[in-house]
Amino acid sequence: MTENIVDHDPNCLFCKIVAGQIPSKLVYQDDEIYAFHDIHPWAPVHFLLIPKQHIASMAQLTDAQAALMGRMMVLAPKLALAQGCNPYPAGGFRLLCNTGAEGGQEVPHLHIHVMGGPRPWLRG
Ligand code: 5GP
Ligand code: ZN
Repeated sequence: MTENIVDHDPNCLFCKIVAGQIPSKLVYQDDEIYAFHDIHPWAPVHFLLIPKQHIASMAQLTDAQAALMGRMMVLAPKLALAQGCNPYPAGGFRLLCNTGAEGGQEVPHLHIHVMGGPRPWLRG
């Protein structure tokens, strides 16, 4: 299974999740993108949207990944609604992309947090 994934890092937690080596609660996947529920949700809806390709963070993005990142951004609202976020404008959602140590990133595989649902939330 892993041989089809470009730039898989065998030591990366989220690469292991994409490869099925660590279980996750799947939200969505296609050839390039994987989405799964955060193990410690801050909000009634909280999932992570990641590229299947190992990209450490936003800081490593190149022009070649512009279309991929664009697809992730266009996908996020659709998945947010499908997962139970209420519609805009009374509902909505929050996207968060922690980058680097000072950006609060703990897992070094690019991920977009998608959070939503009725307030109050645990955090954020
Ligand atoms: P960061 O702080 O890097 O932006 O966020 C990493 C997120 O990954 C955290 O919200 C954390 O709860 C989540 N996370 C860490 N390990 C796992 C795991 O093994 N499975 C899942 N589903 N989420 C994880
Ligand atoms: Zn990775």
